[in-house]
Amino acid sequence: MSVKATDNAVIAGANDLLDVRSDFPVLQQPMNGKRLAFLDSAASAQKPQVVIDAERACYEQYYANIHRGVYQLSQRSTQAYENVRGIVQRFLNAPDEREVVFVRGATEGVNLVAQSFVRPRLSPGDEILITEMEHHANIVPWQMIAEATGAELVVAPILDDGRLDMEAFRARVSERTKFISVVHISNTLGTVNPVEDIIAIARDKAIPVMVDGAQSAPHMPVDIQSLGADFYTFSAHKTYGPSGAGVLWGKLEHLEAMPPYQGGGDMIRTVSFEKTEYAPPPAKFEAGTPNIAGVIGLGRGLEYMMEIGRERISAHEQALLHYASDRLKTIDGLRIIGTAPGKAAVISFVLEGAHPHDVGTILDMDGVAVRVGHHCTQPLMERFGVPATVRASFGVYNDFEDVEALVSGLKRVKEFLA
Ligand code: PLP
Repeated sequence: MSVKATDNAVIAGANDLLDVRSDFPVLQQPMNGKRLAFLDSAASAQKPQVVIDAERACYEQYYANIHRGVYQLSQRSTQAYENVRGIVQRFLNAPDEREVVFVRGATEGVNLVAQSFVRPRLSPGDEILITEMEHHANIVPWQMIAEATGAELVVAPILDDGRLDMEAFRARVSERTKFISVVHISNTLGTVNPVEDIIAIARDKAIPVMVDGAQSAPHMPVDIQSLGADFYTFSAHKTYGPSGAGVLWGKLEHLEAMPPYQGGGDMIRTVSFEKTEYAPPPAKFEAGTPNIAGVIGLGRGLEYMMEIGRERISAHEQALLHYASDRLKTIDGLRIIGTAPGKAAVISFVLEGAHPHDVGTILDMDGVAVRVGHHCTQPLMERFGVPATVRASFGVYNDFEDVEALVSGLKRVKEFLA
């Protein structure tokens, strides 16, 4: 990894732009004969060599099923897997590594909390409060348990710039609210929600809060203790690690009180046909053989981010966001959706007279990878009256050249479709 200031940083007024593109093998290949401008990190980030090496080393040098193995390979594998809890603890500043549960990703994190923590507490007429900017992963699991229990899903609206309407949010918190789940950073708008304020409102009424950290874990420092949430979840594939691995963090007192989410091997203390005694957390929530190498890759991805420094990652992405926002304003007919102050480096936009899918396809010809569609936020598309957007999102490896490739690609789109 190399980190150095560049000339571009001077242009943007940032004195700390990162230069880590060479850490990412996939970015070294040309795309359609052009330099690859990967602008889809909000969907999945690319993987640095150190993460690839860590997974490879696991398979080449010490892979075996974990826990209970008396032979050396299994002990090494177990140790490498369990060590990652400490890395996550450091990454989140969590009080206790037993609070770190490995899951498949943020989707499983939300489902686990919905089924195991919230569902048993719901009665008909109770409410679960979310916001209008949630990813489907933080909508559907709540709808499922609301339907099963007779509870209701209540949605706090957003303002036109993509900020949460805090007055409306506050007005929706009542004696009936049994749980609140909010996205930390919107994957479509880039809005950074004031989760500390939300949690303060909830705490007044003793309502537990879950934070969907799928987009905050990769892009900003997260201190779970100062946040004050009850649960926080994120996916490794967005924090420069592999897909199929992720983290659910929960307060130990909750995890201890919750029933298991799934049953099977590894989550038990003793089993007989009459009665099964469960293991304590986190094992209680990790039934079956887990994604061993994936979790090891997850840990290395988080270490990679901590080695660079999350403040620096955030400053780098903010510099790109401001530069890109200014450059995109020079394109006639381009409307950015989501302009909340202090937003993260995600830019959703529509281009007059061009369908987002056509825009994405033409950009791809120029080696520019953006996401098009509803971004798993269909209610948000409806809120803004668009069927889909084009979304450019930034990560540690992006630079001003990527932004310029996007801008000149969009100019070509306009010529093409004019
Ligand atoms: N929440 C947000 C805000 C997301 O952006 C995503 C993924 O795009 C998810 C939840 C779901 O993550 P995963 O598909 O990795 O489970």
